[in-house]
Amino acid sequence: AEESNGSSESFVKIPEIKFTKLFINGNFVDSISGKTFGTIDPRTGEETARIAEGDKEDIDLAVKAARDAFDHGPWPRLPGSARRRIMMKYADLIDENIEELAALDTIDAGKLFSWGKAVDIPVVAEMLRYYAGAADKIHGETLKMSRELQGYTLREPVGVVGHIIPWNFQVAPALAAGCTMIVKPAEQTPLSALRYAHLAKLAGIPDGVINVVTGFGPTAGAAIASHMDIDKISFTGSTEVGRLVMVAAAKSNLKAVSLELGGKSPVIIFDDADVDKAADLALLGILYNKGEICVAGSRVFVQEGIYDELVKKLEEKAKTWAVGDPFDPTVRHGPQVDKTQFERILSYIEHGKREGATLLTGGKPCGQKGYYIEPTIFTDVKDNMVIAKEEIFGPVMSLMKFKTVEEAIERANATRYGLAAGIVTNDLNLANTVSRSIRAGVIWINCYFAFDMDCPYGGFKMSGFGRDLGMDALDKHKLECIRLYFND
Ligand code: ADP
Repeated sequence: AEESNGSSESFVKIPEIKFTKLFINGNFVDSISGKTFGTIDPRTGEETARIAEGDKEDIDLAVKAARDAFDHGPWPRLPGSARRRIMMKYADLIDENIEELAALDTIDAGKLFSWGKAVDIPVVAEMLRYYAGAADKIHGETLKMSRELQGYTLREPVGVVGHIIPWNFQVAPALAAGCTMIVKPAEQTPLSALRYAHLAKLAGIPDGVINVVTGFGPTAGAAIASHMDIDKISFTGSTEVGRLVMVAAAKSNLKAVSLELGGKSPVIIFDDADVDKAADLALLGILYNKGEICVAGSRVFVQEGIYDELVKKLEEKAKTWAVGDPFDPTVRHGPQVDKTQFERILSYIEHGKREGATLLTGGKPCGQKGYYIEPTIFTDVKDNMVIAKEEIFGPVMSLMKFKTVEEAIERANATRYGLAAGIVTNDLNLANTVSRSIRAGVIWINCYFAFDMDCPYGGFKMSGFGRDLGMDALDKHKLECIRLYFND
C-alpha cells in the first residue's frame, strides 16, 4: 500500500482540546479521586491530553444528577415540541462545529478527517433532527375491551439510561423519548463526547439530562452496568464485555439491556458479478475505518468461476489503497485506534499464517510511528481457522472459494454472529433467495455500508439484540403502559 508522508499540519489545524473533565449535572468537574488518564493520538502514539478518570463514585454522582433530572426536572415533562426545538438547536450547533468534532475524532480514533467531516458528524446532527421530529409524535392507543371496560395506553420514557458506547453518538432517541442519561465513551476516544456535552449545554438541554463520565470499563463501565438506579443500558462493544454487562444488569436491578456487539459478516460474490465493482465493494467492506466497524465484511466468499480473476483484482486494488495520516485528503485509511488493538490485529495475522492461510497482500505494520497496518488479504482460508471465526476488528480480509448457492448460504451462516452480510450479483431472484436465508440484521445487496436514519440496525445471535436507528430505537426508550377504566 502507498504511504503518505504528509504531516497533518499542512492539511488542517489541530483543534485545541478544551474539555477534559467529567460533565456532571451541567458542570465540568474533576473526578473525585483526582485521577486522570492520557488519551493517545494513534498517528504518533503520543499523549494528546490528560482526561479525568471517572470511577464508581463519579458514576454515583452522575446517576444522582440524571435520576433527579428524570424524577423532578423539566425534560421528561416538557411537551414533545419543546424537546424537539432544543434538539434541533443542538443539531445546528453540531453542524457549526463539524470541523472541530471531526478533527477530535481523527486525533483520538484515527478516523479519516474527510469522512468525519462529510459523513460521521453530519450524521450525528441528522440523527438528532430525525428523532427531534418524532419527539412530538409519541402517542398510545385507546382500547375498548367491553361495554364497561375501556382503557388507553401511554408510552412513557424508560427513565435513566446508561450508554456505554465507543465513538458513535446514540443518545438522540433517548433524548427524544424524554430520558436522562449517563454516557461513558470508550477510553480510547473521550474527546468528542466531552465536546458534545458542552454543545448540549449551549443548546439548552437542562442540567443533569446528559452526563458524561470518562474512564475505564472495569471501573466506570462496570459501575453503570451494576447501578441500582439506572433503568436501561445501551451497550456497544465486544461480545465478551456485552456478556459481562448483561450479567451485571441481571445481578443488580434487572435493568433493561440492549447490546450491539461483534460480527464476522460475510460478503458473497456470485459468478455473474462485475469483477471490478465486486472488488471495490469487498475492499470497502473490510477497509472502511480500517476495519474498526462492527459490520465489517471480514469473510469474503467468491464463487469459483470468477475467483481467480477477483483475487487478482483485489491484490491490485489493495496495493494502491493509500495508508497514512488521516488528515491527508488523499489517504483512504488511517491508524488503528490504539496500541492494544494494533498488536491484537498483528497477532491475528501471525496466527493466520501459522494456520496455513496464504498472505495475498499486506500483513505488516507501516509508517515510522503510530499504529498503521497495511490492508491485508488472506487466501486459502478454511472456515474453521481462527481468522475466519473471530472478529479481528482490523483491515484483514479472509477470502474463501465456493461452488454452489446452498454451500454459500450454509458457510455464511456458520458463525456465532449475525450482524450484517453483503451479496453481489445481478440476479435479483438469487439475491432474494440468499438474503432470505442468511441470519443477519442488515444485508446489503450490491452495496455495503449504505444506511439511512430510518433503517433499524442490529444483530441476530451473538451480535446482540435491540435496534439502533429507525423508530425501533425510539421504541426501546419507551415503555408501553395501560390505564383501565370501569363504568357500571
Ligand atoms: P472495543 O473492543 O470495541 O473497545 P470493548 O467491549 O472492549 O470493545 O469496550 C467497549 C466499552 O465497554 C468501552 O467503553 C469499555 O470501557 C467498556 N467496558 C469494558 N469492560 C467493561 C465492563 N466490565 N463493564 C462495563 N463496561 C466495560
